[in-house]
Amino acid sequence: MPEALELPHHHTGQSNDPAKNLPATARFEPVAQVFKQLSDAGRCRIFLLLSHSEECVINIAAIMDMSSPAVAHHLRLLKVAGLVTTRREGKEVFYKAAQTDLAREMHRMIERVMHLSCPETKS
Ligand SMILES: [Zn+2]
Repeated sequence: MPEALELPHHHTGQSNDPAKNLPATARFEPVAQVFKQLSDAGRCRIFLLLSHSEECVINIAAIMDMSSPAVAHHLRLLKVAGLVTTRREGKEVFYKAAQTDLAREMHRMIERVMHLSCPETKS
């Protein structure tokens, strides 16, 4: 933890040390990586699809109107980010959003930003 920083401006009523509980920039790298993986509208769309259903690459490609290799590329990045998991069944590989707090938060965030109601929370 860095020692208290003497700020150039003193404003009354403000914290003496606003940086006290602020982690170093390097610690934000995992956050930046998550947003980087979601910095593509198509990837966000695939991720939201997989937040609601499990699908294979072929079906995702059909839904997205994209080639399978393009979809596979997006899925790889989402998997590296820990947002998507895979399940193999024979020759078929199924993808769905990871059952993690991070994936759930990103799922909610996308729906909030887009003003969508989650089909899973209806009824
Ligand atoms: Zn949802």
